Amino acid sequence: MFTFFRLVFFTLFVLVNLEAGSYKQNISKYNEARKNYAVIIGKNNKHKEIKYLKKLIYYGTKLKKNVSRYKKELKRLDKNSIITVPVKRKAPKSKYSIKSVIQSDNQITIMFNKNITKKDIRYFTKKGKGNFQYIFDINGRFKDAKPTILIINDIDRVKIVQYRFKTLRISIINKYRLKPIYIIGNKKIIIRVKSIKKRKKKVVYIPSISTKIKRKTIVIDAGHGGKDVGAVGSFRRYEKTVTLNIGKYLYRILKQNGYSVYLTRSRDKYVSLRYRTKLANRKNADMFISIHANAAPKSKVRTGRGIETYFLSPARSARAKRVAAKENKGDMGSMGWSSQSAFLTVLNQGKITASNKMAIDIQKNMLYSLRQRYGAKTIRDGGVREGPFWVLVGAQMPSVLIEVGYISHPSEGKRIYTSKYQKLISKAISNGIDSYFLKNQ
Ligand SMILES: [Zn+2]
Repeated sequence: MFTFFRLVFFTLFVLVNLEAGSYKQNISKYNEARKNYAVIIGKNNKHKEIKYLKKLIYYGTKLKKNVSRYKKELKRLDKNSIITVPVKRKAPKSKYSIKSVIQSDNQITIMFNKNITKKDIRYFTKKGKGNFQYIFDINGRFKDAKPTILIINDIDRVKIVQYRFKTLRISIINKYRLKPIYIIGNKKIIIRVKSIKKRKKKVVYIPSISTKIKRKTIVIDAGHGGKDVGAVGSFRRYEKTVTLNIGKYLYRILKQNGYSVYLTRSRDKYVSLRYRTKLANRKNADMFISIHANAAPKSKVRTGRGIETYFLSPARSARAKRVAAKENKGDMGSMGWSSQSAFLTVLNQGKITASNKMAIDIQKNMLYSLRQRYGAKTIRDGGVREGPFWVLVGAQMPSVLIEVGYISHPSEGKRIYTSKYQKLISKAISNGIDSYFLKNQ
């Protein structure tokens, strides 16, 4: 008889890594089952006895209690019973981390906190759907390896992800065949792609790996506010509302990413242009970003659309002049236009160059993210432009002004008023900021 029982010994499946529920909950379920079992035992109700025994075994196992006598009893009552107990595996301790990801035109360098040897790397190629994949599997579990996609000049996509429990995967994905070479150095791997046919695509960096960037201070300026409503679209859509929402979303994202962040306004109130940059100067900010929404003149309401990023410079195209005039209207400061012009001519050239670079990174990332979501045709590239924006004049740090879309356009105006769009563009702006600081430290 004994061997027979052994053969049909009930099976206990211990599944790994399933949600185990909270400890408190398990305890109370266990105690409840024990109480119920005690009441029912000896009352000749086999069905209920089995039910409570199963519960006792289930929760008891989770609580690491000795449930062998319950198992024995269950086996006696129902020799075919099978019980599945999910057991929470202890969170893995990973001492490895990615320190930084540095990218240039045809090369990426990933720095680790541990030495990587040849033994740690498995390299192979794969043919994907309409693309070629070059895959580097690296042994180890890395703390900061959240899925990351990089888009760099000569390569369509670079994906970095903790692929398996103990495997970090770097995939280089390209439409055309590549010839990657890799060098393993002191705590790093450098992957270089032999220069291939130059394409127009430029550097876009979408990091989610915590990169070692010195804590930077950013002042976000939500344009307009209070009595100054900014541009007005149909259905009384106010620019000041869009700018405040995006400003707040951006604030949250940048904070999470480790920046020190300030908002020129966090509610619907009037703030003078002068105060906005004053705050940035007082906080010794590394970057000043003014958020706005555009509007077209009445006759062009149906055609005026797109995203533009401006940086301050004395140059004045007709378009820049029009947008600047609109944005400057809220508060001209105490300087008249002629003294402003004089001020503009003595602008610091280094600051203009930095602002220009920053504008390029932000514009690219906004276009990239929004087009992924809404389609390339829907999102028009208004370009990076220079213009005499008064709100940027007083800032002593690189500064840009973003026009997140046209509030006057029938469909675009509606879209930029949605939180979906506002969140997406905020994330894209933060990616642009990361990208800028990564390249210009
Ligand atoms: Zn504005």
